[in-house]
Amino acid sequence: MLIEMDGVHKIYRMGKTRVHALAGVDLRIDEGEMVAIMGPSGSGKSTLMNIVGCLDRPTRGMYLLEGEPVAGLDNNALARIRGERIGFVFQTYNLLPRTPALQNVMLPLLYQHVKDRRRRAERALERVGMADRMDHRPSELSGGQQQRVAVARALVTEPAIVLADEPTGNLDSKTSREIMQLFRDLNDEGVTIVLVTHDQEIGNCAKRTVRMRDGQVISDGPAPHVHPRDMSEGVEWSAEGGPGTAEPTNGS
Ligand code: ADP
Ligand code: MG
Repeated sequence: MLIEMDGVHKIYRMGKTRVHALAGVDLRIDEGEMVAIMGPSGSGKSTLMNIVGCLDRPTRGMYLLEGEPVAGLDNNALARIRGERIGFVFQTYNLLPRTPALQNVMLPLLYQHVKDRRRRAERALERVGMADRMDHRPSELSGGQQQRVAVARALVTEPAIVLADEPTGNLDSKTSREIMQLFRDLNDEGVTIVLVTHDQEIGNCAKRTVRMRDGQVISDGPAPHVHPRDMSEGVEWSAEGGPGTAEPTNGS
């Protein structure tokens, strides 16, 4: 079992108020899964991802990552696990803007004692179809290309799991399909993927859907696993006649 959570709570304190962002989450994720976490804004999706990704600890409850209890680890140990075991993909790519793609992808390896950093970064970029753009800076790349570079950066450490929070949230529907195609191909190669989306079409591409509401999992089951090439064009999108209506979301 890759991920095992039991009764995970997360309570944020803001002055005198307490926000119960996670209210008892049980979740198990196996190697090779492709899971979509869905739910309305504020339901706790990002909080859950932050805990899965060891960016944050549960206030209460148990979390095992590859059998290792994470809750008791100090910040250094947490950072090491993050660097070695987790690949992150964000809605806004989070690349260094003035740094070429290759160096962006090499970045996670700088903190690790590994050889052949450049070669590994090149291979990760080849894997996401960006072999011919390695010297480009993010500003010289389209949104979809930047997200591919970000996926390469997530893969370069060969993590146990790739976590993507709204990875298509800033992309039009055609580019979203291409990124989902990439995730699908990676998953077919054995990469475990957990992605957050509020878009049902995107969620349908996963093998499993976990639905959240008010900090709890309200349903968890198989997803249609639609092939991205068979995704509809996006009903809202084509009906309104342009990509302007495929709203970028605000990172909620
Ligand atoms: P989602 O990603 O599903 O939109 P979040 O996990 O971001 O939901 O947020 C869940 C709840 O926790 C929300 O009520 C949000 O306002 C609150 N929250 C999230 N992060 C913090 C934080 N760092 N400090 C205080 N409250 C937070
Ligand atoms: Mg969120």
